[in-house]
Amino acid sequence: MLRPPSKGELALFCAVCPQPGVNLPPDWKERITSWMFWRYLTGNGNFKKTCVQHQAVKEKNKVKPGYDITGVVSVACARHGCFAPAGTVDLQKGERQINMDLALSEACDATKAGQTLGLRFTYDINCQYCVNFHQKVGPRKPLSIPENMALLFVIGLFHVHGHKEECLALGKLGNLSGAHSTL
Ligand SMILES: [Zn+2]
Ligand SMILES: [Zn+2]
Repeated sequence: MLRPPSKGELALFCAVCPQPGVNLPPDWKERITSWMFWRYLTGNGNFKKTCVQHQAVKEKNKVKPGYDITGVVSVACARHGCFAPAGTVDLQKGERQINMDLALSEACDATKAGQTLGLRFTYDINCQYCVNFHQKVGPRKPLSIPENMALLFVIGLFHVHGHKEECLALGKLGNLSGAHSTL
């Protein structure tokens, strides 16, 4: 009997990235080196204008007359660029954090990030985004991420050198075991 597809079910996630129950042997946790099994996701917004550095901050709270939406924000595999199922949401008023909260929450769910070793999430404004994240997203909140999932906020190397010196610590993905040159 046919049933309507559930959220994100019509899309496939990155074929290369580890997905328990999809492309890993049942005993993957015992057999394989652990650094391979983090979930790497990246968030980014897309607007009608040309992309410029720190667009997310500059475009914040801008309403465009005549447009129902001002763009979209998406979460994708940070290694291979494959969009996460259910991880793209409309923007109504510039790139607000709540849009990314929803995209990330759905992307974690659809890519089974909670079944991996944890999530390494890159976003060009993570120095600001991570500050209030756990007050808005979590158990018993409207938006959730998998409970007890390790979560590391990172600013990609491309963006981090446009930040202040104190933000450089967030641009350390290249120093993490297994991350190598991811963004
Ligand atoms: Zn991937
Ligand atoms: Zn910064």
